[in-house]
Amino acid sequence: MMDCLFCKIVRGEIPAKKVYEDEYALAFEDIQPKAPTHVLIIPKKHIRGLKEAAAEDAELIGRLNLVAAQIGRERGIEDGYRTVLNVGPKSGQSVFHIHLHLLGGRDLSWPPG
Ligand code: AMP
Ligand code: ZN
Repeated sequence: MMDCLFCKIVRGEIPAKKVYEDEYALAFEDIQPKAPTHVLIIPKKHIRGLKEAAAEDAELIGRLNLVAAQIGRERGIEDGYRTVLNVGPKSGQSVFHIHLHLLGGRDLSWPPG
């Protein structure tokens, strides 16, 4: 996907503060952090969003969650963090390359807005 912002980050065409990378996934600091830890975890493969994910993407989506858990451990925020996957424009999804938000390092209210 040539025009996708997060595909450009995967290809190194746009800089990002990477915090994790493997063959399948990339994690980087959110440019407008909403918590002391606010990391975005994305698959290297372009998937538009959860609505568009297919059965063959199940392992990839599982991997994103496990990367979040690993970063949560590394940062010592296991007393309370949240993973968020915005789906569709009404949820606030603004980048249409699936991404898992990892938010932590502060008290998190419930329910989310
Ligand atoms: P969402 O609203 O769920 O689509 O989340 C998109 C997130 O991407 C927002 O939290 C933005 O702050 C973040 N974002 C947008 N552009 C960049 C960028 N170039 N580098 C890092 N994060 C970004
Ligand atoms: Zn993309």
